[in-house]
Amino acid sequence: MKSVKIPEKVLNWINGGEREPLSSEYYSKLSPVTGQEVYRVARSKEQDVQEAIQAAKRSQSEWADKTVVSRADILRSAALLMRDRMQEFAQIVSIETGKSLKDALGETHAAMEMGLFIAGEGRRFYGHTTTSAQPHKMAMIVRQPLGVAGLIIAANTPIANVAWKSFPALLCGNTAILKPAEDTPLTALVFAKLLQEAGLPSGVFNVIHGFGEEAGAPLVESPLVDIISFTGSCEVGRFIQRTAGARLAKVCLELGGKNPLIVCEDADLELALQSALLSAFSNAGQRCAAGSRIIIHDLIYDEFREKLIEKTKQLRIGSTDDDDLGPVINKDQLNNMVNAVDAARKRGAILLTGGYRLTGQNYHDGFFMAPTLLEGMSPDDPISKTELFGPIANLYRVKSFDEALSIANNSPFGLTAAIHTKNNHRAMVFLSKIQAGVAVVNGPTYGSEPHMPFGGLKQSGNGLREAGTEALDVYSDWKTLYVNFNPQYV
Ligand code: NAD
Repeated sequence: MKSVKIPEKVLNWINGGEREPLSSEYYSKLSPVTGQEVYRVARSKEQDVQEAIQAAKRSQSEWADKTVVSRADILRSAALLMRDRMQEFAQIVSIETGKSLKDALGETHAAMEMGLFIAGEGRRFYGHTTTSAQPHKMAMIVRQPLGVAGLIIAANTPIANVAWKSFPALLCGNTAILKPAEDTPLTALVFAKLLQEAGLPSGVFNVIHGFGEEAGAPLVESPLVDIISFTGSCEVGRFIQRTAGARLAKVCLELGGKNPLIVCEDADLELALQSALLSAFSNAGQRCAAGSRIIIHDLIYDEFREKLIEKTKQLRIGSTDDDDLGPVINKDQLNNMVNAVDAARKRGAILLTGGYRLTGQNYHDGFFMAPTLLEGMSPDDPISKTELFGPIANLYRVKSFDEALSIANNSPFGLTAAIHTKNNHRAMVFLSKIQAGVAVVNGPTYGSEPHMPFGGLKQSGNGLREAGTEALDVYSDWKTLYVNFNPQYV
């Protein structure tokens, strides 16, 4: 297999070319697997961001003037190029995140599928036609672009996160500035180059690297940026809602989760175990849709717990295709999680397995956390209510389905949820009563498809959805058209 060339420095991408940061400052990107520097990354500041915004602003009307079909043609070419270079993208994702190539390939495939799905929308892009109360009058609504889009994303599934925002934003006729996570800059830069190769005009898509407060905040604050679409933590989401809201810009927030997985006494236990294990630990738990609260009926609690502990201890941890989960993205994340588990134990939580950083020969100085299970904490304890974004899950014992549902809904978040039961009635009640943007029967808490909307209630978002045709609602606005036609002109 051809290996990708890793640059010494990852630069910004502005107006169709690589750019050094004006300050000439760089930060060090460390490998999550070894803890060693992989490359240096442009540390952009306000002035770099302004240049990118200007490039996006200048190119916007020309891009919007193209037909939606021709915009979609370019995006389709990009998705097909991505299919040709699946291995290259996956290698970069794997290097930046430490996940296995197999997992990185799965994510790259999902990103490509999102590109193809959105490109297909170029031939639909439906509005509505309707009737009018007046004679000789036509009434309809069509989509129009918003202008310049600021796209700010997290590191957990970098190429999928890039694709979910960039393809629909561009299809709708916006130009964009993407601010990738500090830990996954190269994925975004290579994507920008791919768009250019596919025929995207210069300035339509720009990438700015750097720290959130320095390189992200100026995008949020700029009056020239018409929409901020953000995937990340609630804390930053609040800042964005406040700041972009103050200037009445559109804001799309895709935030965290503390997702429940209910295991009823009549569940297929093997399936439920598999779902719990994958929901809690795949991608090292770094999923907004991770299942971090496992709610188990009393009658099967002890058996389920023992089997889950056993299977958790058997998980293989590393970054090869034979491993089940890799490291977490950086040292700060790792330390936060270990501290959160220690603090929960001091408050009375019982550690069933894990809870510590993995060290030793196999783990170098990498950021590996042992898959962790806790029990005995109150559903109101901070560890029940705070997203940790790592391989940590809490177990809760319940006496009834009603209690399970009540604990599941006792959360500041409402992103995803799952139930395992053979009882159709109970499944239907769950689907109806659970407070979540995505609800699953007899499966894991995560897993989304490009044609299906994704997003959450409560503190998991602000009501908009990514993916699906619903993503077009994020990046376009409606224009209501009336056409009066006078029979005398015939
Ligand atoms: P984070 O909020 O710290 O960072 C996300 C992005 O915001 C990064 O690019 C960062 O540089 C930028 N940022 C930070 N401060 C900023 C500021 N002041 N102004 C502008 N930008 C700023 O999140 P994280 O810890 O990197 O990511 C994990 C979070 O993302 C979790 O909460 C997870 O649930 C969430 N997430 C949500 C979804 C979803 O679709 N709902 C998907 C993936 C991840």
